[in-house]
Amino acid sequence: IWLEEEIRRYNNPLLRPVSIQLAPPLEAQPPEFPSDGNMLATLWWSLHLRYWAWRHDAAPGPRPDVRLFLLYHDPQQISVLEHSVGLDKGKLGLVKLFASRADSARNLVILAHEFLHTLGASDKYAPDGLHPRFPDGYAEPALEPRYPQRFAEIMGGRLPLNDASSRIPESLNETLIGDLTAQEIGLIGLNKHPKR
Ligand SMILES: [Zn+2]
Repeated sequence: IWLEEEIRRYNNPLLRPVSIQLAPPLEAQPPEFPSDGNMLATLWWSLHLRYWAWRHDAAPGPRPDVRLFLLYHDPQQISVLEHSVGLDKGKLGLVKLFASRADSARNLVILAHEFLHTLGASDKYAPDGLHPRFPDGYAEPALEPRYPQRFAEIMGGRLPLNDASSRIPESLNETLIGDLTAQEIGLIGLNKHPKR
């Protein structure tokens, strides 16, 4: 529903933009992301992951355009999750989530973020991951005064409170697709602006 509203806001009335099929749960674990992060290891890992995904996508129904694998973690045992990944190549995402009801609204924010990666959207936050980049990582960069921002840009990841601090959005209701993200996923042409 959130995605449909965002697409409509960009004047793009697709009838059913996304259809979601839930696959049966998997026992198999995906290959571990290389912690040293060198290019060759990461490349090898992404090939390995695509092969793993090909072997394990038993979802019923038509062949999917995008596959997201969700890894639920017990919040009692792990307090910080490793970063999720969404790969444009192979239209594949590996999404790490906390398995608790309290986290379900925030889980949808992470899911939407990684899903948009698979459609070609880029991250729009500072390298330390703690603050969205201005202006692209802001949902409403033209807002006067700039703060408080009312929404988080979905690929900026966080809702900016002032120039230096920001917080994690509680749910998709606090997030928007910004102009650059909309261009990257093909919602708008380079010169068109959405109506607010
Ligand atoms: Zn990201």
